[in-house]
Amino acid sequence: MAQCKVQYQPGLSMPELFDSYSSPEQFEELMRRWGWPQGFVCPRCEGTWHSEFRRDQRLYFQCCRYQCSLVSGAIFESSKLALPTWLLAMHLITQTKNSVSALELKRHLGVFYPTAWLLKHKIMEVMRLREDPRWLTGRVEVDDAHLVGEVQDGKSGRASPNKVPFIAAVQTTEAGEAELMCLSPRPFTKESIKEFAQKSLAAPATLVSDGLWCFESVNECGILHQRHVTGGGRASAKHPSFGAVSTALGNLKTSLSGTYHAFAFQKYAHRYLALVQYLFKQRFNLRSIVMRLGRAASQTGPMAMRSVRAAEVHCRSGAVMCTAGFNLPWLRALARIGLLALLALIHMVVAVAGLLRPNPITADHLLTNRVT
Ligand SMILES: [Zn+2]
Repeated sequence: MAQCKVQYQPGLSMPELFDSYSSPEQFEELMRRWGWPQGFVCPRCEGTWHSEFRRDQRLYFQCCRYQCSLVSGAIFESSKLALPTWLLAMHLITQTKNSVSALELKRHLGVFYPTAWLLKHKIMEVMRLREDPRWLTGRVEVDDAHLVGEVQDGKSGRASPNKVPFIAAVQTTEAGEAELMCLSPRPFTKESIKEFAQKSLAAPATLVSDGLWCFESVNECGILHQRHVTGGGRASAKHPSFGAVSTALGNLKTSLSGTYHAFAFQKYAHRYLALVQYLFKQRFNLRSIVMRLGRAASQTGPMAMRSVRAAEVHCRSGAVMCTAGFNLPWLRALARIGLLALLALIHMVVAVAGLLRPNPITADHLLTNRVT
């Protein structure tokens, strides 16, 4: 039986990783390569002249009047975790067949679960930022799907409120071999598909879809539409025109169900889909994924816990935006108005209570009482 070249390619093994990066000097060299592959460049003045010095064993760079370290301006800056922990986490997430959950990271890294969760989400956010400007062109197969998970009330499947609609689009060769993939959480409406086409499809492109009517709106963006009415279900999955996207969706389902017991699909679907999309893009270069990801993380700014936990605007339903968290300006403004209204109400209640209270005893009253 012929071996799949992608599945059986050599990756970056654990012994090799530990041999290559076991001393502080090796990590310093790694961080230099990630942060400044062409040599030092000042983050403020973009000059290359600098001097180096150490303070508390830590290497610093001095340029003009600005001092920075190897982690300044990188995602590692806001983290208390040591760089070897970050490197091991990136290795586990990228080199394992179906990635790892935060629970597995916790066990492998010897950290608390919230730390592992935050670390994983920061790494997934780096991947999402890298994959966000993904453009597909030429022949593109597309299909609609749902991420469905159990929630605490026990409902599962399509009845579960913990589900997110998304579209999977796969750019293929003319022979139908998959090249690039784009996974986008969004409802299946004409307006939403048109927005997807504007963001992720570049003409000349032909979108190959099943009978779902909303896909025809790509015509308005100069994208050709090839529609195959298959009847849905298994007939659609086995249709020769959707070989690449059906395989991608099958692998996605296996990967997610095998790795995660449950996660908040509504809130974090975009990151989990970005993880799958990123690994798909890098699948031919398994050995170099860790280094590429590390370089991307070095070029991504620090992330606060609040911004990682805040859900983003990814799910639209008509004119209503489905969001969570307080990262939206209008939501913050609404909360501020509510607070001001509450304060005004309290003020009014206090004022009315003051009017109803009997007049306070003045010095004259006391004097009168004393005389009588
Ligand atoms: Zn400078």
